[in-house]
Amino acid sequence: MHPSKIVCVGRNYADHAKELGNVVPERPLIFLKPSSALIGPGEAIMLPPQSRQVEHEAEIGVVLGQRLRNVSVPEAEAGIGGIACANDVTARDLQATDGQWTRAKGFDTFCPVGPVKANCDWRSLEIICRVNGQVRQHGRSADMVFSIPAILAYISTIMTLEPGDLVLTGTPAGVSQLVEGDIVEVEIPGVGVLQNPVRSMSG
Ligand code: MG
Repeated sequence: MHPSKIVCVGRNYADHAKELGNVVPERPLIFLKPSSALIGPGEAIMLPPQSRQVEHEAEIGVVLGQRLRNVSVPEAEAGIGGIACANDVTARDLQATDGQWTRAKGFDTFCPVGPVKANCDWRSLEIICRVNGQVRQHGRSADMVFSIPAILAYISTIMTLEPGDLVLTGTPAGVSQLVEGDIVEVEIPGVGVLQNPVRSMSG
C-alpha cells in the first residue's frame, strides 16, 4: 500500500470527544499522517523514547478507489474503493504539549492498516479494539458525527483524493495506553482483524 497521503478525522464520535474533554466539531477536523508511518498486520508498533503515553485509536479506514475532487456527498460514495482496519496510534502526551499533532501521530509504525475489503456497506460497519484479548473500544459507523461520504466530500473540497489514498475516520471511546508486550487488535466484522504487537525502542 503506497497512498499519496493519509488523511485522518479527529473527534468524529461524540463519546470519544467527550472522554478527552473536547467538544464535537462543527465540521470534520482533519489532519495528516505520513505514509512512512504505515505498517501491515503482524508488524510491531514501536514505542518511541520521546513519549510516555502511546495510545491505540481503532478506526475504520477507507481506501480510495477513484479520484475525488470537489465532489458532493452523494458523489463521494463512488470513491469508496475498500474498507480497512486501521489504528491511528497516538502519543497522547506529545499531542497535548506540541499543540499540533504531526509528531504525536507521525512516528514510524504509528499507522497499522489492513486487511482491506471491497464492497462493504459503509452504513453498517462495526469496529472493535482489543488489547491482550480484552475489549477496549466498540463503535459503529452509524454513530459517526460525519458519515464516510460526508468526510470524503469535505476533504475533496480541500485536497484531491487520489486512488489508493487512505482516510481514517475517527475513533470511538475507550482509547487507552499501550505498553511493551501488548498485542493490540482492531476488528471490523466482515473485513477482518488487524493484529500488531507492541515493542519498545528503548528497551
Ligand atoms: Mg484518530
